[in-house]
This record gives sequence, structure tokens and C-alpha cells, in this order.
Amino acid sequence: AKSAGGNRFELADPEADARAITRHGLTTALPAALDRGEFFIEYQPLVHLGDGSVHGAEALVRWLHPQHGVLGPDRFIPLAEHTGLIVPLGRWVLEQSVRQARQWQERHADSGPLRINVNLSPCQLTHPGLVQDTVDILEREGLDAEALCLEVTESALIGADDDLLKPLRRLAEMGVDIALDDFGTGYSNLANLRRLPVSILKLDRSFTQGMQQFPADPVDLKIVEGIVSLAHSLDLAVTVEGVETGAQAEQLRILGCDTAQGWYYARPGPPERLHELALVDATG
Ligand code: C2E
Ligand code: CA
Ligand code: CA
Ligand code: CA
Repeated sequence: AKSAGGNRFELADPEADARAITRHGLTTALPAALDRGEFFIEYQPLVHLGDGSVHGAEALVRWLHPQHGVLGPDRFIPLAEHTGLIVPLGRWVLEQSVRQARQWQERHADSGPLRINVNLSPCQLTHPGLVQDTVDILEREGLDAEALCLEVTESALIGADDDLLKPLRRLAEMGVDIALDDFGTGYSNLANLRRLPVSILKLDRSFTQGMQQFPADPVDLKIVEGIVSLAHSLDLAVTVEGVETGAQAEQLRILGCDTAQGWYYARPGPPERLHELALVDATG
């Protein structure tokens, strides 16, 4: 925006202009991108902290834009949420991921059922088709509900009323795991956790970062220790994200966290990568 006469708050900012144009361009290109198949999914393994074996993977969507190259979800998910395209896009991600999980399970029947984690945007939560779409996809692809985990951010559920929780309860009753993503960033009332149909806490990366030095900051250690013991007393499993070093993994294992995800184990990648990792497990 150019500085309009007299309005001292509106400063010329060519970079902001460029960003706005790209944002507008990306927004209008989104629907056709879905039709043209420009989205793809990378999978990041989740491992058991106890023995390092593969537990499953989280699906992370990317956009191969014909002009801008590969765009991360932070660039386009907010736009898709704003326009409502997140509903068909989210359904597509769920379908692809469930199909992929089914394929892993077929190829690694002996290494235990590999699980798939899929992110749900708050807009999908309020969409009336969520439960039926999920049931249909699981049935069509032939995957057990128990192999699916839907990740919902803590902030999306803060102050959630019963209408918002009802679809999540239905899914949880079917056997789908609900994970509270980015936990610890949303300042939610810990006592509130009992009310939510969640079975997994996904501890935000900021906590993992506090474990970078060895020994870690004693206050950080106490906080994570407290969260883990609270979670376990409520029968919730704890996943940690953003594990980048062996020292972090070891501290988080000692603190009793159950599963972990991060560059230390593997970056998000193509689905074949999980085959390789699970194969290493199976052969010891
Ligand atoms: P998230 O759900 O918290 O996903 C974890 C993010 O951390 C991913 O970023 C992942 O690539 C990154 N990450 C994983 N390990 C490490 C590590 O060791 N160190 C660091 N620094 N980062 C790590 P990504 O792929 O860019 O995704 C960003 C966010 O976009 C996700 O955050 C999620 O909120 C959203 N997102 C991704 N896929 C979808 C989707 O299909 N639907 C919706 N609604 N949101 C999605
Ligand atoms: Ca997530
Ligand atoms: Ca997260
Ligand atoms: Ca995050």
C-alpha cells in the first residue's frame, strides 16, 4: 500500500505489497491446484522412544506450485482455511494418507500395525461432514479406525463447547485417536483435559528445544516431567515433536515420553522412506 495523504500509519512497503500479491495469487490458484493434483504429502516417522522402533507417521501436505516450486503448509493452509478450500483439501489429505497407511500395513504385516497421523484444521471440525467422510474413507480404503490419529491443535479446542466436541467424541468412540497438537502453547486449563476426547498429548517443539543442552534447563525438565505425569495419570500418551539430537531424545525418554518425531530420526519424506525404516525394524 502507498502512503495515502495524511495517513501516517499506511507506509509504503514494497515487500508487503509483493507478499499480498502472492497471497492473492496463491488464494485464487488453490481450487485449480487441487483439481490438477499439485498437492502431495510427505510422511514423517513417529518412533517409540523406548526402543526406537517405528510407530507410524504424520502426514504433512505440500504444494508443488508450477511457478513458485514446493510450498510448505504454512504458506497455503491459512489461505485454504480462509476460503473454505481446506474442507475438500483436508478430505483429500485424509484419503491419501489412509490409503498409504493401508499399503504400509500390507507390506509390513509382521512389524506391527503402522499408524497414520493426519492434521485437522478447526474449519474441518465445524464442518458437518467430518464424521461421515472419515467413516467412508476408512471403509473404502479398508483401514481400521484404530490405525488413524487425528491431530487437533490445543488452541482450536480452547473453550470448545459441546457442539464442537461431539464429532470428536464420535470419532474417538469409533476407535480413532485424537491428539492434542502443539500442546503447551495454548494456555489451556489442564483440568479441562478430562473433558476432551483426546488420548494423546503432542508436546510442542518449544519444550523439546529446552532439552538441547545437556544437562537441560532444570525448570524445563520439571515442566515436562509434570506434564508427562499428569498425562499418564489421565491415561494419555505423550508424543514429542522437533527432536533434533540424540541428547534430546535421551532426556525425553528418561522423562517418560512415549513417542517422538523429529529430524534426529527422519525428515518428512516420500512414503517409501517409511518402508525402509520399518524394514530395518523388522530385520533388527
Ligand atoms: P505441525 O502439525 O506442528 O507439524 C510439525 C512441523 O514441524 C512440520 O512442519 C514438520 O516438518 C516440522 N518438523 C518436524 N520435525 C522437526 C524438527 O526436528 N525440527 C524442526 N525445526 N521442525 C520439525 P511443516 O511440514 O512445515 O508443517 C507446518 C504445519 O502445517 C503443521 O505443523 C500443521 O499445523 C500444518 N499442516 C501440515 N499438513 C497439514 C494438513 O494436511 N492439514 C492441515 N490442516 N494442516 C497441516
Ligand atoms: Ca501435527
Ligand atoms: Ca505440532
Ligand atoms: Ca507446530
